[in-house]
Amino acid sequence: MAIDAPLSVSSILELTERCDRLFLAIDYDGTLVPFAVDRMSTLLAPAVRSSLDRLTADPACLVAIVSGRQLKDLEYFLGGLKADLIGAHGQQWRRRDGAVLDTSDTSELDRQLQEIAAKLQRALPALDGQRFERKPGCLALHLRALDSDEAAHVERAVHTLCRAGLPPRLTMHPFNGGFEFRNAAVDKGQAVARWLDSHNISRASSRVGVFYLGDDRTDEDAFIEVERRGGHGIKIGEGQTRASLRLKDHRAVHQLLEQLAQKAASEGGTHSDG
Ligand SMILES: [Mg+2]
Repeated sequence: MAIDAPLSVSSILELTERCDRLFLAIDYDGTLVPFAVDRMSTLLAPAVRSSLDRLTADPACLVAIVSGRQLKDLEYFLGGLKADLIGAHGQQWRRRDGAVLDTSDTSELDRQLQEIAAKLQRALPALDGQRFERKPGCLALHLRALDSDEAAHVERAVHTLCRAGLPPRLTMHPFNGGFEFRNAAVDKGQAVARWLDSHNISRASSRVGVFYLGDDRTDEDAFIEVERRGGHGIKIGEGQTRASLRLKDHRAVHQLLEQLAQKAASEGGTHSDG
């Protein structure tokens, strides 16, 4: 059952106390970094990068960054981190050893998304083209910092377009700060399932901790997946959620990562090799 009030970092740490292995899947925007209108300005704070580097030096702690952003953005922000980088809601995946896994061909979807972008630009001629973010199999329309009248105008145009019908393999999803059209066959739940399966983790337990941290509606699929496997979804911030745990904001996430990193260092590896 979802928890309404944010928990303390220490109460989440307690859940990791007995774990021999830890699997942490973490969203990027709104979870590791605060939002910004300039989407490429959201650099990871050096202290947070340091926490992640120390944490991922522990072979018993595996980290995946799971984002709607395309892989090249994640590589820009997180290059060299010993973590799996999963972009475009799972359509792109760079393993922590640097290998980029084969991903499906999205060229037909990308052509359809290009048409959607063109229709929206015709319906919204005053809208800054920078608000469109094109990714493999995805098109995001960012509304952050638009005034409420402009945002409502865009929202109407998006819904008008959806009512007219989308190509069958595409769906539209609202997210915190905009709308996204994407491949109906992908979501962060499937992305996390694939990552856990790649490590043969079908079930979490008191010795194998599985956590997913995210702030957005698009993270709900991942919360459902980790909770189904006996792990814990951690919702960052306010809002309804299927996650069973909640932290207040990205600063609380930083504290959690730093505490886990310190624990890893003090134990010479967070967890035994069991
Ligand atoms: Mg997010």
